Amino acid sequence: MKDATRLTRIGRPAHETGLVNPAIERGSTVLAPSAGELYDAPPGRPHYGRVGLAAQQALREAIQDLQGGSFCALTSSGLQANILSILTVVEAGGTVLAADNIYGPVRSFLRNIAPRYGIQTRFVAPDITDEIGDHLDGDVQAILLESPGSLTMELQDLEAIARIAQDKGVTTIIDDTWSAGLTLKPLEIGIDLAAQALTKYVAGHSDVMLGAVVARTEALGQRLQTTERGMGFYAAPDDAYLAVRGLRTLELRMQRSATSSLDIADWLSARAEVGAIRHPARSDHPQHQLFKRDFTGSAGLFSFELPGWSVADSEIFLDAMEIFGIGYSWGGFESLAIHCDPQIRRSATEARHDGALIRLAIGMEAPEDLIMDLEKGFAAVAAHS
Ligand SMILES: *Cc1c(COP(=O)(O)O)cnc(C)c1O
Repeated sequence: MKDATRLTRIGRPAHETGLVNPAIERGSTVLAPSAGELYDAPPGRPHYGRVGLAAQQALREAIQDLQGGSFCALTSSGLQANILSILTVVEAGGTVLAADNIYGPVRSFLRNIAPRYGIQTRFVAPDITDEIGDHLDGDVQAILLESPGSLTMELQDLEAIARIAQDKGVTTIIDDTWSAGLTLKPLEIGIDLAAQALTKYVAGHSDVMLGAVVARTEALGQRLQTTERGMGFYAAPDDAYLAVRGLRTLELRMQRSATSSLDIADWLSARAEVGAIRHPARSDHPQHQLFKRDFTGSAGLFSFELPGWSVADSEIFLDAMEIFGIGYSWGGFESLAIHCDPQIRRSATEARHDGALIRLAIGMEAPEDLIMDLEKGFAAVAAHS
C-alpha cells in the first residue's frame, strides 16, 4: 500500500464502532474488572491514563506503521522526543556525537542538563559522511543526526553513518522532523531511533505540541518503552487525536508546501539580492545527490543567503511583509519567515553563509501572493539603504 492510501487508514479504531477516527478518551483511572486483574491486566489493555488510551494508542500505531519500526513512544513535544531518544541509549560516562546543525534546544539540553548526569557531547561537521568513523572512540554511545538541519539545511550521509555505527555498535538517532517520517524512512536506511516533532507537519495546523520516537529493532523498542514509562513522558488524548487527523492530509499538505517552496525558491534565485539558496530538493544544493538517494519527496522549509545584509536589514525585510508571519515553528498552514543568524550555534565548524540567512516555512497560501509579499520585503530594504 502506498503512503497516501495508508494515511487514510492508519489509526482507525480496532473495534467495530464504524468510526474512521479514534475516540478521544480522557482518563486517569481505568477501573479493573476484578481485583485479580488490577495487577495482571491482559496485554494491550491500558491500566492507567498515563500510558495512553484510544487516541494515543491509535497515534502510536499510525506512526509506527508509517516508519516501519517496532515501538512508538509519544512525548509532549518534539524537544522531549529528542531527549527521550538520548536517555534511552546513553548512560553516565557516555558521549553523544552530534551533528553541528542539531536543533538549538536539543543542543542546550546536551550542554546544560546532560553533563549533570555524566553525559558528554562532541560535535562533528553538519554534512559529515563516512569520516564519522574517525570520531567513534570507545566512549561514544550515540550519534545524533538532523538531516537536513532545520536552519542551515545540511544533510548527513545517513547510509554511510548507519553502516559504520552498526559496525562499531553505536546507536544512531535522527531528528526527522523535516520529512515528517513520510518522504524519508530513516529506519529502513538503518538508523536506530527516529525522533520527530509531530508539532510541525503531522499536526499541521499550529495548534498542537507533540513528539514521537520510533525504534528500529525489537530490543531497542523495549528499551524505548521502558524509558518512556520510567520517565513519565506523556501525550494528551486531544493532541494525539489532532495528530491522527493531521496524518489524513499530511501528504497533500507536504506536496503543496514543497511545490510552492520550489516555485518561490526559483523566483528568489533570480533576485539580485539573493545569494545561495539552501533547499535540499534543488539541484544547486551541495548535497542534492544524497537528497535524491534517500528522500522520495520534499518539504517546504528552506533558507537563503543575503550577501551583505545585516541583522537590521533582515528585520526591515521581515517587518515589511504582511502574509509571512514572524515566528518559530513550521509545517503549519500559514507561511512563516525568520532571520536565522541570531540563533545559529556551532561548536565543531564555522557557520558558512554569506551575509544574512533567512528561513521560509511555506504554507498553503497561493505562491503568487507569497512572492508579492517577498517583493514588499525587498522593496522596504532597498528604500532604507
Ligand atoms: C520544532 C522542532 C523540534 C521541537 O519540537 P517542539 O514540539 O517544538 O518541541 C525539534 N526538532 C526540530 C528539527 C524542530 O524543528
